[in-house]
Amino acid sequence: MSMGAALLPGAHAIDVQAGTGVGPSAGPSAGPVTLGVMGGGQLGRMFVHAAQTMGYETAVLDPDADSPAGRVSHHHIQSAYQDPQGLAQLAALCSAITTEFENVPADALATLAATRTVAPGAQAVAIAQDRLAEKAHFVRCGVPCAPFAAIATRADVEAAPADLLPGILKTARLGYDGKGQVRVADRAQLRQAFADLKQQVCVLEKMLPLALECSVILARGADGAMVDFPVQRNLHRAGILAVTEVFEDNVPAPLAAQAVQAARAIAQGLDYVGVLCVEFFVLQDGSLVVNEIAPRPHNSGHYTLDACDQSQFDLQVRTLAGLPLTQPRQHSVAVMLNILGDVWGPGSDKTPPWDAVLALPGAHLHLYGKREARPGRKMGHLTLTADSAQAARATALDAARILGIETF
Ligand code: ATP
Ligand code: MG
Repeated sequence: MSMGAALLPGAHAIDVQAGTGVGPSAGPSAGPVTLGVMGGGQLGRMFVHAAQTMGYETAVLDPDADSPAGRVSHHHIQSAYQDPQGLAQLAALCSAITTEFENVPADALATLAATRTVAPGAQAVAIAQDRLAEKAHFVRCGVPCAPFAAIATRADVEAAPADLLPGILKTARLGYDGKGQVRVADRAQLRQAFADLKQQVCVLEKMLPLALECSVILARGADGAMVDFPVQRNLHRAGILAVTEVFEDNVPAPLAAQAVQAARAIAQGLDYVGVLCVEFFVLQDGSLVVNEIAPRPHNSGHYTLDACDQSQFDLQVRTLAGLPLTQPRQHSVAVMLNILGDVWGPGSDKTPPWDAVLALPGAHLHLYGKREARPGRKMGHLTLTADSAQAARATALDAARILGIETF
């Protein structure tokens, strides 16, 4: 289903399937306009909040009866992502549907797209789901990525160029937060890692000497209009995002400009509609290399909720509903700390000292309502806003000390 007229909040849903044309209809989906999201995690929850703020109703499809987004949505369809009945129910409720995680089956999006607006489209999501397809896309767009080789068989392990070692073996599909990745120093370790990953199709990437990591989040409308957020500087620990800092010169200006250009080319090449995050490495020699894309809002953009005049979730709503996009403006300097389950202590049973954290100036606490804290699990985030980089960093360091998060 192609993107048609804008889905204005407060309007009444049009029964697209019945093809009634324009204006309110008495079709099965008549009523307030409902926006849907595949996935009920924290990203879905923040999308739901943004959509509801603008007067939309929301529907979440997630197999978990108690998901962070399902719990705050008007409608929650508890179903597997590929269950035809669940998908039919979602399509019946919603005028337009997005996704909050890249591993949503691309087929499910294609099914929904037969009758409803779906953004981003199944094809773009399918590319983001597969590191090999993703890298082929980077090459097509002329954006350099890490040297790599596809590893699908034991013969590929033996044939992999020696200059890719030491490297990182990553499963081509279904990795996140550093899962499905093994660092390998030599070919013997590569053999072992490929066996440990059960000989799934993988990518061997050369281990690059990183100076820093950064990301660009942009939004692109169905008409091709694009807006973007300032470049985010990111610190990962054990493959998981730990800190995002956004202030002037967080990344040298020429590199930041190059990253934005590259992200735009990648979005354009996908004919992308929605919010897209592109992750980059800056190498010690000062060159920029693309790492991967996420076809959705991204953890490194959570600061936009508190430090920008529009958040990445607001833009997700706008792109999905076909509303105008205006360039977002960052009004405060921001440092974001991820709050992982580790903050609850080894037995996951202590209540973190939120009162002390909230006594810090410019502290914005977001907790996702997950019932169980586990080490490495993303439970929430804390954004510290200020009017200078120095002040934001200083309070972020105070917050990290209070919460027992490693300082940076
Ligand atoms: P995400 O949660 O972002 O989806 P992921 O599991 O897809 O993570 P990557 O982004 O591929 O993983 O890698 C996680 C982190 O590992 C990177 O942010 C970076 O710190 C490090 N890393 C990955 N690939 C390389 C590389 N080729 N050279 C050096 N470091 C790397
Ligand atoms: Mg990543």
